Amino acid sequence: MSRKLTGAHVVVVGAGVMGTCVALRLAESGARVTLVDETYPAGGTSKAAFGWINAFDKGPRAVFDLHVRAMDEYQRLLSETGGDWATFHGSIHWADRDDATRVADLRGAVAELRGWDVTVDELSVDGLRAIEPDLRLDTERVDSVFVVRQGGHAYVVPLVNALLDRAANRHDSRYLRGRVARLIAGDRPAVLLEDGVRIDADRVVLAAGSGAQALARGVGLDIPIESVPGNQTVTAPAPVSLDRVVLAPGVSLRPDGGGRLMIGTDQLTQSEQVRHLAIDDPLVTEALRRARAIVPALADIPVEGTRSGVRAIPQGGLPVVGESAQAPGIYFAVTHNAVTLAPALASLIADDLGGQAADLEGFRPDRFANRDTAGPLASTAR
Ligand SMILES: Cc1cc2nc3c(=O)[nH]c(=O)nc-3n(C[C@H](O)[C@H](O)[C@H](O)COP(=O)(O)OP(=O)(O)OC[C@H]3O[C@@H](n4cnc5c(N)ncnc54)[C@H](O)[C@@H]3O)c2cc1C
Repeated sequence: MSRKLTGAHVVVVGAGVMGTCVALRLAESGARVTLVDETYPAGGTSKAAFGWINAFDKGPRAVFDLHVRAMDEYQRLLSETGGDWATFHGSIHWADRDDATRVADLRGAVAELRGWDVTVDELSVDGLRAIEPDLRLDTERVDSVFVVRQGGHAYVVPLVNALLDRAANRHDSRYLRGRVARLIAGDRPAVLLEDGVRIDADRVVLAAGSGAQALARGVGLDIPIESVPGNQTVTAPAPVSLDRVVLAPGVSLRPDGGGRLMIGTDQLTQSEQVRHLAIDDPLVTEALRRARAIVPALADIPVEGTRSGVRAIPQGGLPVVGESAQAPGIYFAVTHNAVTLAPALASLIADDLGGQAADLEGFRPDRFANRDTAGPLASTAR
């Protein structure tokens, strides 16, 4: 419990993975939390996330450390909420021998991880068969495979629901469905819903993902956030055993529960406008072809569905967390990779709003007051 937060009314805008993590940690700290979303829990980008929880290729060191902290926070959340909404079996990576750039990038990322004490095994293709028997790699094209022991993946919709359930049933948080038309900054901030309802608060936390930029503009803040669409393909239940997240050239895979596999199709669709892909879309057919090339047991398994979402990537790639001097009372909680980072950022945010020290320097929104020093465009950030 925090004395500063006890009894304070906090409105959290956005019930994705970020908003629900923040809502739970604030409610545990004693705040009265109202969570507002225009759709259902995880109905924004969170439902479309690949859900890889990782610290792969996430330098510099301070950023890597935040990702590692997030994985520790996941263990805490898992033990608090119970459930089986995440697994931590690590990830598998390889590059085609002929793709010298990718081979070098992969070896560089592995060297960085090992330098930071993460165990990464290098296996032969046969060695991989021993631990993931349904993966078939072409020995003509692949020399070796890297298995990162750290990390795993979340089933994001069940995760969000577990967080909400705990926030509502243990801490009396309230979920309100409604579109926020406008934020009102000040000592007594508020949100104004589209239907005219005004909700006053002691603090408003803006966790609206790709919807945050427009709401920020309404209180005079121009936070540079790039919207990057992405899609996933989900198979019908398959007779495939796969424990780890697979990051292969041109395709990613992970278990999606009930025997289904999720196929990351980003490599095919990232440059497109966001759009929902029909299951017979040529891009989906191509994604399935690529998955079958490394998992032959998918041969007769059809696609069951697709998911689409928009990544919100702040300029420079780092999270935007905290309040701007220009809009008091409005606290930002927007980041790329929120599936990985939300549990760590939520704890830091609860400390920050509770008046305790929280290492959030470098993430504050006012760093954008001087755009030239704010870092590279999002698309060049890793
Ligand atoms: C294809 C794809 C793959 C990804 N893979 C990974 C991965 O492997 N690992 C990882 O860590 N991250 C991944 N991400 C990124 C991750 O999905 C996002 O960072 C995360 O889901 C964002 O969560 P959020 O809660 O901030 O936003 P969202 O989930 O978008 O939630 C924001 C919520 O705010 C609501 N909202 C917005 N505006 C308003 C308004 N005006 N009024 C009321 N409600 C509003 C929306 O309805 C939404 O529910 C991936 C993203 C995509 C698209």
